[in-house]
Formats: sequence, C-alpha cells, structure tokens
Amino acid sequence: MSRASSLYRLQQLDIELMNSHERADEIQQILKDDKEVLRLRRVLENCEAELKTAQITHATARHDVDTQRAKIERTEKTLYGGFVQNPKELHERQQEAESLRRYLVTLEDRLLEAMIYLDETQQERDTADEVINRTLENRAHQQKDLKLELENLLAKIERLGAEREAALASVVQDDQALYDTLRKRLAGRAIVLVHEGGCSACGLALAHSVQQSIRSGSELIRCGQCGRILYAG
Ligand SMILES: [Zn+2]
Repeated sequence: MSRASSLYRLQQLDIELMNSHERADEIQQILKDDKEVLRLRRVLENCEAELKTAQITHATARHDVDTQRAKIERTEKTLYGGFVQNPKELHERQQEAESLRRYLVTLEDRLLEAMIYLDETQQERDTADEVINRTLENRAHQQKDLKLELENLLAKIERLGAEREAALASVVQDDQALYDTLRKRLAGRAIVLVHEGGCSACGLALAHSVQQSIRSGSELIRCGQCGRILYAG
C-alpha cells in the first residue's frame, strides 16, 4: 500500500463514518419528535370539549321543549276540562295557551339547532379520533423501521471504527496530521483521485511528470491549485 492509498482508504472510512453518524443523529431526532402527535391530541381534546358543550346544549333544549309541552298540556286540560266557567278567565287561559304554543315553536327550533350542532361536533370528534389513531399506527410502523435502521447503523459505526483503527496502522504519523488538517479545511475531502490527467476536485491539469510521481506512490503529491493530496487510484 502506498502512502496515498492508505490515506485514501482512511478517508473512505471517515466519510462512511460521518454519513452513518449523520443518519443516526437524524433518526434519533425523528424518534424523539412527537410534536405532531401532541398537536393532534390537542385537536382531539378541543373536539371533545366542544362535544360536551353540544351535549349539554342539546339536553337543555330537549328539557325545555318537554317542560313547555307539559305546561301546554296542563293548560289545555284546564281549558277543555270544563273547570273554568268564567268567560274572562277562559279568555285569559286561551291566550296563555296560545302564548305557550308560540314559545314552543321557538324552543323546538332551538332543539333542532342543538341536534344539528351535536351531530356536527360528534362527527368532528370521530374524525379527530380517526386521524390520531391512524397517525399513531403509522408512527409505530415508522419507528419500528427506524429503530431497526438505527440498530444496524450503530453496528456499522462500530465495525467502521475498528476498520479505521486497522487502516490507521498503515498511515505514517506526519501524513495523518496533514490529512486531518486538510480534511478540516477542505470539507472532509483531503485526498482525491486523479481523473483524466487532472485533479478530480478542482480540475487542474497535471503535468506528465507529476502524474508519474503520483503513480509511483512514494511521495505525497498535492494539487497545486486546491492543495488536496492526489491519488492515482
Ligand atoms: Zn485540485
């Protein structure tokens, strides 16, 4: 193995390690993120509160109608049961019964509105319930897949770490120091392949003699333009 090929191998492992760490972090973030479930729970809670209000409104409206009907029945019994003989009182009772019936219409309208409101809020609650259950189900599947992926990634990171240790054994100490410096400065790519007689990172054309030195592998040759170490591959 030449000095450059040892470094190139090290860099491949480092890139793979970096990508694996990034993905593992990303998965851990997704697994932790329960904002959507919390939001849906709040929606469901609001729907349930609204439904409770609708149930109370409906029960009250129902009770008002029943009470009014009972009142009308009592008044009509008095009216038509022959208990009232006095014409003036009879007239008053008739007027009272009419007034009670008129108000019954209003109460029945209110009851109808309350029924519609109850029906709507029940549907909204059921929909919110369905959405949250579906989301939780999807999330459970997704989490299962992600946990498996994370488990595999962590095993891979461990394996890559061991491979990196082994690869380091064939890297000269000074070369490693240069490699570390260049990686930091050059976005993780300290060493690049020569492609069609030029640097594959910046495209600088390389003299024939330089290409030969790179191929021989005894020295580390750096690109005159971007500064990266060149590897013949
Ligand atoms: Zn270059």
